[in-house]
Amino acid sequence: MMEVTLTCEECGSGVQLAPKVATTDAECHVCHHHHPVAFTSADEEGKLETCPCCQRKDFYKQKDFNRKIGVILFVIAAITSIWTYGISFIVLYVFDFILHRYLPEIAICYKCNTIFRNVANIDELHGFNHEMNDRIIYADHDFQGKQLEH
Ligand SMILES: [Zn+2]
Ligand SMILES: [Zn+2]
Repeated sequence: MMEVTLTCEECGSGVQLAPKVATTDAECHVCHHHHPVAFTSADEEGKLETCPCCQRKDFYKQKDFNRKIGVILFVIAAITSIWTYGISFIVLYVFDFILHRYLPEIAICYKCNTIFRNVANIDELHGFNHEMNDRIIYADHDFQGKQLEH
């Protein structure tokens, strides 16, 4: 089943949700702020078409990699490189390569940063597009699910 994590607009906490048409409200467990959500039957089948939180159709996909872990690994490699003459960086590179190969992909809403895991149609989505992101965030442009091509 698709797993939805929306970002609380009040406190920034992650709010986990299972897509159910009957669910119309998501409550933040930290600050108890309520977020209206609207799921469709497509969401229940794991097919991502419309964001249940902001009703936009613009998503990007990326590997489900925790950036904090990445930074920690880099710092460890940097510190240990003093004694390993830089070999730790090669180890990190190989580790990174293997990790990225096997990590699952997730979809993220450009507009509201809601994260979707186990998306059935993930192959239809594109990677992060800077221009689309800027226009959605700063100019409130709605691409309606169409990828910006050059
Ligand atoms: Zn909150
Ligand atoms: Zn959204």
